[in-house]
Amino acid sequence: MALRSLDIFAPPRAHERVLGRVSGFRDGATLLCIGGLHGNEPAGVMAIRRVLEALAPRRGELRGDFVALAGNRAALAEGKRFLHRDLNRAWTEERLDRLRVEGHLNGHPEDREQVELLAAIEEVVEGARGPVYLLDLHTTSGHGGPFTTFGDTLPNRDFASHIPVPMVLGLEELVEGTLLAYLGRHGIVGATYETGQHEEPAAVDRAEAGIWLAITAAGLVPEDRLPESSVGRKLLQRETEAQPRVLEMCYRHHVEPGDAFRMRPGYRNFQPVGRGEVVADDDRGEVRMPRGGRILMPLYQAQGEDGFFLIREFRPFWLWVSYALRTLKADCGCGWLPGVHRDRGRPDEVVVDRNVARFFAVQLFHLMGYRIHEEDGSRLILRRRRFDEAALVEHGPTPESLP
Ligand SMILES: [Zn+2]
Repeated sequence: MALRSLDIFAPPRAHERVLGRVSGFRDGATLLCIGGLHGNEPAGVMAIRRVLEALAPRRGELRGDFVALAGNRAALAEGKRFLHRDLNRAWTEERLDRLRVEGHLNGHPEDREQVELLAAIEEVVEGARGPVYLLDLHTTSGHGGPFTTFGDTLPNRDFASHIPVPMVLGLEELVEGTLLAYLGRHGIVGATYETGQHEEPAAVDRAEAGIWLAITAAGLVPEDRLPESSVGRKLLQRETEAQPRVLEMCYRHHVEPGDAFRMRPGYRNFQPVGRGEVVADDDRGEVRMPRGGRILMPLYQAQGEDGFFLIREFRPFWLWVSYALRTLKADCGCGWLPGVHRDRGRPDEVVVDRNVARFFAVQLFHLMGYRIHEEDGSRLILRRRRFDEAALVEHGPTPESLP
């Protein structure tokens, strides 16, 4: 594989919606890669183009389909994260319902982008000849190592684990309306893959390596027929050997447009930070770390509402515990915990009264695959993620058509 560096400092350019498709003669899964959902993150698109070029002449070896789409085309053409609103915070059922009724006429540029992108994804799902896997490619404004993040279901976890970079759990609970979460609710297994700093040529190489590994993870080409995947694995292992393999999200610093938020210079992904450390300034003064841990995605650009995240190592032991709890369906027997109750009409939800329940109740439900659905004072509603079945790890779920 040519893990060469492209000139990603070239001026932004227009990209077609469907960057390419390679269809195998035999049936199999679909791997959908999306690049540039944020317009100032072209590295994913560059990597996709390299893979398409190398994969196209090898159709005969492919089982299923490789499809690649451009995310926010209007923002990619201007090299901005977004023009009016963030396209990766917009995939809520309410907004999609509204766009379906009102369409995108007279709307903002991202309304059109969202309607078109949804139609393109629908076409991919409708035409799929097996399960559908998604790799959503991104880069960060700060420097530092690559990582994946995903809704913590067993199939997503397995898919992401093929890319040997740190896995960050719990981000989807802090960020509303991502494309990955929306598609995950409809049976598409996937991960968001952050590959480095926006303008760093190595971000393209890491994205390319991850795409090759995702191709083998989705079963499109066996690994022994795809030397690029083992080259990619070595590259990523070498780069991330000093990082923990699994981390969990502890805190998100929210930024409002008028905050005048300025990150202090020099922070990188995964850099250890101490409790009380001043990491940024805003119009209220110094911004301190509420706890110790490692910093993730420090904001070094004007656009964006996440100032930084705080993460901590999550021992792989707990992954095994949660795997066991989920396969044993241990959550069925947890209604007796003090301060926890279940609504009969909603078998996938539990209501936790935080005044009564012990602090570990929420952690226990996290291990069992629940995510926080709603917070209402001391009442917390947790909902079990769909498609979180060990049986779906080997052969992914059949995706539902998107409503
Ligand atoms: Zn992004």
